[in-house]
Amino acid sequence: MVEHRIHIAVVTGPSPVATTNVANILLPMNETENIPMPGSEIKTEQFPNQTPEHLPQNMSLSLTSFVVVKEKISDYFKHQRLEEKYQSGQISKEEFDQLLSFDFKQQLKDNPPIKGVFSPKEELEKLKNLPKEQKKEAISIFKEKLIGQRKALATMRVFMEQSIEFDNDTPKENLIELIDKFETQYGFDHQQRELSEHLINRYYENRQKVLAIRQQFPDNHELIKRLTDVNLGKKTKVGISVGPMTIDIWINKSNDFAKLWERSDNPKNQYYNYGGFASESSDPEHIYFIVINRNLWNRLSDDPTGKGVQKHEYEHQKNKLFKELFEVEKPLLPKITNNNGIRLPHTEHLFDRRKIIALENVKDEITAYLSGITILNMKNQLNSLFFNQKDNDYDYLSDVRKWVKLRNDPTSQELAQKILIQEYKTTIKKAVNSYAKLIRKGKYSNQEATALLTDKSLDNWPQTVKRILEQKNNNSKGKK
Ligand SMILES: [Zn+2]
Repeated sequence: MVEHRIHIAVVTGPSPVATTNVANILLPMNETENIPMPGSEIKTEQFPNQTPEHLPQNMSLSLTSFVVVKEKISDYFKHQRLEEKYQSGQISKEEFDQLLSFDFKQQLKDNPPIKGVFSPKEELEKLKNLPKEQKKEAISIFKEKLIGQRKALATMRVFMEQSIEFDNDTPKENLIELIDKFETQYGFDHQQRELSEHLINRYYENRQKVLAIRQQFPDNHELIKRLTDVNLGKKTKVGISVGPMTIDIWINKSNDFAKLWERSDNPKNQYYNYGGFASESSDPEHIYFIVINRNLWNRLSDDPTGKGVQKHEYEHQKNKLFKELFEVEKPLLPKITNNNGIRLPHTEHLFDRRKIIALENVKDEITAYLSGITILNMKNQLNSLFFNQKDNDYDYLSDVRKWVKLRNDPTSQELAQKILIQEYKTTIKKAVNSYAKLIRKGKYSNQEATALLTDKSLDNWPQTVKRILEQKNNNSKGKK
């Protein structure tokens, strides 16, 4: 899509022929379709008492194109208005549905639909059997569709998240309808369809669970006891709210926060200076809950209400749900042999394995952070969060490093330096840089970028981003 500005004369009088006022509108337009670009600034200027024939040649329009342009402009303004209302949280149900259908139309323009079902697995098999001379073109078509479908799945996820955010109890049919819409246009295969439905079902299961448990335990302290097995005592001040699929526990004192933290998924540290954490009850019901530490010093600074932490923890719960369901790409299997086919020493194998697991944890954390901070801010925090070996809960490899130190064996130390420090750091940095590129060059929001990348391991982010941006370029070239 190319941005450029053109002048359009819009007659604002009762009829375009017998007109009194003419507005000169300066619009950045989508070159091929004459549609104002989303987010573009519109300047109007009045020319009172002039008819179109008095305008410079390039500014007058035929009656037909005038009507078309007028409709497009009014659509554009409608969209803008809805977008603003949505951003300020003052949108009605009907308007929200309108906004989604506007956004869907836009999606169809930005990401051309795929004809027929496109099953990546089956298509890949077909590619393997093609004669050599046909392969090159087939591969490039395959890649194009693969990325187009990835983008569609990501947009669908964003639509669903927004629908749920708008109304936690949005009817299931609405979300199923979204799958139908995207499936028809972007050729989801059976598996993709099934996974999307499972995801929705799991959301409603969790939703029902939190609503039911709250009803069953109207007393805050009893509910906390039920979920965490911790008795905070009747005098302790606590707050409870019901999130989309979590029970949110608001704690006032760090001491109380610490009691709950100690019982959560076996934290390795006694660090209580966290803003919050996400967990689930240990009984077979696995009820999701989050705990927010209201007392933390940062409540006073950049997150006075704790809403930022709440969002961050929601993101962790979402990741958990996706991990359970979406076919999360298996982290690269550890290398058993090196390039010459010689079996690697046990230590290297072990380090590789641990690095892969740690990177999955880093991804979970990074995506949670990016729900509330900018990518630039994220970049600046990488060091303090993941690299400076503070032996805190974000230091996922501290135990292995300690073990290496104790072993006092130069080969292991060298390997640890290479795999657990250098490679680990490089992968994280490259992944975050590629995310930044996606935001900067692809003009995606954090929510969209996360939806595009979250099922890929951090090692694969740079390659995936490259493909997405390449396709974006090709599309706009094609349209010219
Ligand atoms: Zn976190």
